[in-house]
Amino acid sequence: IFLQNASPEKILKEVFGYSAFRSSTQESAVKAVIKGDKDVYICMPTGAGKSLCYQLPALTKPGLTLVVTPLIALMYDQLEHLKKLGISAATLNSKLTSLERSQLLTDLRRPMPRTRLLYITPEQVSSDTFKSLLKFWHTNKLVNYLVIDEAHCLSQWGHDFRPDYLKLGKIRKDIKGVPCIALTATATANVVTDIKKSLKFKDNSLTFASSVFRSNLFYDVKIKELIDDPFRDLCLFAVESLGTELSESDWRSAGRGIIYCRTREACSQVAGRLTQFGIPAKAYHAGLKQTARDGVQDEWTNGEIPVIAATISFGMGIDKANVRFVVHWTVPKAMAGYYQESGRAGRDGAPARCRLYYSRNECSTIAFIISKEAERYASRGKGVELSKATQKEFQKMMKYCETATCRHQQILQYFGERLPREKCLDQCDVCVSSRAVLKDLDDMQKAGFA
Ligand code: ADP
Ligand code: MG
Ligand code: ZN
Repeated sequence: IFLQNASPEKILKEVFGYSAFRSSTQESAVKAVIKGDKDVYICMPTGAGKSLCYQLPALTKPGLTLVVTPLIALMYDQLEHLKKLGISAATLNSKLTSLERSQLLTDLRRPMPRTRLLYITPEQVSSDTFKSLLKFWHTNKLVNYLVIDEAHCLSQWGHDFRPDYLKLGKIRKDIKGVPCIALTATATANVVTDIKKSLKFKDNSLTFASSVFRSNLFYDVKIKELIDDPFRDLCLFAVESLGTELSESDWRSAGRGIIYCRTREACSQVAGRLTQFGIPAKAYHAGLKQTARDGVQDEWTNGEIPVIAATISFGMGIDKANVRFVVHWTVPKAMAGYYQESGRAGRDGAPARCRLYYSRNECSTIAFIISKEAERYASRGKGVELSKATQKEFQKMMKYCETATCRHQQILQYFGERLPREKCLDQCDVCVSSRAVLKDLDDMQKAGFA
């Protein structure tokens, strides 16, 4: 497809099949990217439609758009989607067969490649093949955009740090004049600074950010030690959130749930307890073979298994709209990660719940793990600064759990934003009853856990 003179609205309708932009942020970002004269930073929550902000502009000019993505699985999802729309996109990664690779390279070395969007992993970027391609494209003025998706991966302050992302800034000088588009859902100030610096953003770069407030999510924190049987509590919460009867034999039409656990053992234990209770659930973690993991994910996606008990390795690139609850069975290490993980709930806009089971005992364990990690970093000459930051992030997470302030307000404050009104309109435990929350916190203190 070639749409040089079509308006963004027309492309949106006729190529992507959407009747309107999803938000004004999406619309202004798309239009700024099309202009193509500045670096653009786009920060929107997961599911808000960031991909469109480069996929649509990519079609407005002849030539290539390069897209760096951290996970090969994410690329294939995108490719499949683009293929359905009739847009020619490809990926250059280590998993290609030699035939696929040589066919792709032939196309990429044409004076005008058929490929419009090329997805690459950050590792590929530093390969010799890629560097020579880049030179060829640049000489022929073929590159329109350098897109860095999940850009928070290049920040050590973020929660998904990938060292290979740090090399991305270097290739910018090989394609001078090509605007860089960075996309992420993480909005913390230090991550933003890192991204712009590392990708060598020009001073006149543009930023498009939408609020992190998700009004359809109900947030609460439960203190584990104050519950007689936390597993039973979890099961009841799951049933209630899914809004189905336990006697249900076909779960396909029900919503889905995710329970994040810290360890593999906890995943299996939680999945076991739920299944016993009558809610089909399975564990998902890095200890399983890839085929087993894919199997579990498929069963969850198609609804045979409504609930998955997973380590945080599950979820990046998960685009399931009807997740009715996300539970953190153990306190996460940082707010940014917590926001992103819990934010996988309710992407369809319907009510969904995010619950965190808090335990000071577990906090001690996590604090210990964080300090061990810090020692390891320090021994590799990574500096104490980073480890201090990690510890501080964890303290903020604990504070979130131990403060009787509107959870939404706390989350927004963490991202340097303010709630458009004073309260979240009873979308959190504190706003529903700050008294009850205070009483729990008080009981926790009295009991002197940990
Ligand atoms: P993000 O990268 O921000 O997490 P995606 O780009 O993956 O989000 O998009 C999330 C979903 O929103 C996708 O299913 C996509 O097709 C859909 N989407 C994007 N833009 C629009 C739009 N303007 N109207 C309707 N749906 C949209
Ligand atoms: Mg995305
Ligand atoms: Zn609230």
